[in-house]
Amino acid sequence: MSFLPVSGLELPRFAGVPTFMRLPHVPLDDACIAEVDIGLIGAPWDGGTTNRPGPRHGPRQLRDLSTMIRAQHGVSGVRPFEAANCADLGDVAPNPADLQDSLQRMQAFYKRVKDADIKPLTAGGDHLCSLPILRVLGALSPVGMIHFDSHTDLFDSYFGGARYTHGTPFRRAVEEELLDPKRVVQIGIRGTAYDGEDRDFAKAVGIRVIPIEEFFARGVDDVLSEARDIVGDRSTYVSYDIDFVDPTFAPGTGTPEVGGPNSFQALQVVRGLEGVNIIGADLVEVSPPLDTAGGTAWLGASIMFELLCVMVGRCV
Ligand code: MN
Ligand code: MN
Repeated sequence: MSFLPVSGLELPRFAGVPTFMRLPHVPLDDACIAEVDIGLIGAPWDGGTTNRPGPRHGPRQLRDLSTMIRAQHGVSGVRPFEAANCADLGDVAPNPADLQDSLQRMQAFYKRVKDADIKPLTAGGDHLCSLPILRVLGALSPVGMIHFDSHTDLFDSYFGGARYTHGTPFRRAVEEELLDPKRVVQIGIRGTAYDGEDRDFAKAVGIRVIPIEEFFARGVDDVLSEARDIVGDRSTYVSYDIDFVDPTFAPGTGTPEVGGPNSFQALQVVRGLEGVNIIGADLVEVSPPLDTAGGTAWLGASIMFELLCVMVGRCV
């Protein structure tokens, strides 16, 4: 079958049933699944949210806005849909009434994705969605991670013992030995904090935290060069929280922090991942109810396209 997206020159981009980037929809039980290299997946779940909810609606709006994306990268000229077989695998079905059941359902879904030898590119959902993905991708040996966010998401627990929230996924992932902390770098960290417990944990286990002040002082190229050195050539996950970007450009998210990168820098950092051995990636925390006009989702979809362009480099 053809894995090329529907061209806007054949069917206008505002027409048709929306899939991610107008790719074919290939469910996991479809016979063609064996041909897929990269699977774009929706994770419509925000059961880990501690403040303003809404990312459960993210995949649908991201699919809609992603129909504006064309086939060729504007700078590099890369045509990702020709470099690898990409498809929209649909949504993982969570249980909005049960957090642990949702984590198990997601893990089971991603296990099937991995068994089909497909690299997942996920649209969240809140940041807790990254944990069940890492439980699959890091099951055999811990992986590295490049993480864009204004928060570390390394806290131990919320509200006196809630250990599974969107502020704790990477603490759990280190404890469960899914991530190799010495191959983890977190970029863009800023904002007020409850305390420094997350940063103390990062320091204790060897996670490299690059606060936004250092990011701006050094510049994108220098910071990404260090990030590539930290993860090296081995398996690396990329997790991108839309709140990495300044809320002027990405207001539709639950826990925005001012003083962040602009939308150009939001794309530029992903281009700096060229050559990294990416085994999967996600774009999380887009909350459509907080930006019904869709500017945040348009940026999110554009970041997903940038991620796809660096992921295909290792697929051919
Ligand atoms: Mn996050
Ligand atoms: Mn965040």
